[in-house]
Amino acid sequence: MTPLPPGSRIGILGGGQLGRMLALAAAPLGYRCHIFGPEDQPPAGHVADRVTVADYLDENALSEFAGSVDVVTLEFENVPAACLDFLGQRVPVRPGPGALATTQDRLVEKDFANSVGAATAPYAAVDTLSDLTGAMAAIGARAVLKTRRLGYDGKGQVMLDKSTDPAQAWQALGGAPAILEGYIAFDGEVSVIAARGLDGAISAYPPIANHHRNHILEKSEVPADLNAVQATRAIAIATDLAMALDYVGVLAVELFVVGDKLLVNEIAPRVHNSGHWSIEGAVTSQFEQHIRAICGLPLGVMALRGRVVMQNLIGDDVDLVPGLLAEPGANVHLYGKTEARLGRKMGHVTRVIREDSAS
Ligand code: AMP
Repeated sequence: MTPLPPGSRIGILGGGQLGRMLALAAAPLGYRCHIFGPEDQPPAGHVADRVTVADYLDENALSEFAGSVDVVTLEFENVPAACLDFLGQRVPVRPGPGALATTQDRLVEKDFANSVGAATAPYAAVDTLSDLTGAMAAIGARAVLKTRRLGYDGKGQVMLDKSTDPAQAWQALGGAPAILEGYIAFDGEVSVIAARGLDGAISAYPPIANHHRNHILEKSEVPADLNAVQATRAIAIATDLAMALDYVGVLAVELFVVGDKLLVNEIAPRVHNSGHWSIEGAVTSQFEQHIRAICGLPLGVMALRGRVVMQNLIGDDVDLVPGLLAEPGANVHLYGKTEARLGRKMGHVTRVIREDSAS
């Protein structure tokens, strides 16, 4: 397996902050990045060698893009399958279209997780209002109705309870194919970020504890406060899923912790917000690790540099930046977005609490 030589160009589908941090990590390894996506002025484009602003289904633009890059990856998982198939016929796409097809659909994803022995919340497919009433009877009325595709940060979701009118909930999702999930009264939410190289080597960070506000990740802390059995099991779930997907690159698995049990909530086939701390807090960042994996380089060491806390800067939180810049040890990252809309991730700050000073 020959690694991509320095000077090669990596194509990245999607131009948000994840693409921006991937491009920044590719540079020290000698690679250049070409960003492709529909958004004008993408944050990743500010730090990339080339940018194409075009629809994911624009075959002329895709063909030109495929001709200009040596490998394609993505920072946005909801790229249409037709786009990945088109590119896959012309250039290596890593992770592969099969892994993406599995993780783009919540029903397929949950069936897959259970098939490899990773438990999930109870769930049922909901394609009609009568499916919904049947599923509520089987799973219980305390439940979450989620669209099968395209949901994120709590979008495309409705919480249900005994007082919910099923017809209204069904309407709220616009009748899109959905799943009903039993409500999980979890003790906490953790994620595991794992990497699998082109040669099949596999590695992971210790589990990360995640705290959300209004369904949006607010803070991640690593290592999460799990016992050794739970931590080992969480990592095994992520690595089993990566192997079963024949995955290449970095992937994130979000888990609910319920007593001794770990339930898979979601698999993100990409670098993940809950891993941003790794830029300063780990020997190899998730972004460098992803670039290493897709380019056929050996994986780096995923050890921590200490206890680490990452806080997202959401919307008006950017007003805190002048103060944060004056704080010793606060590592500030801004994504180059000009408008601080409500709920928009504008940047993040990471603090590494070194082992020698940790109490
Ligand atoms: P998701 O888009 O599936 O990652 O869900 C966003 C957030 O909603 C999760 O991080 C949880 O905080 C909450 N959530 C999702 N599914 C459930 C569930 N079945 N039970 C309880 N809370 C949930």
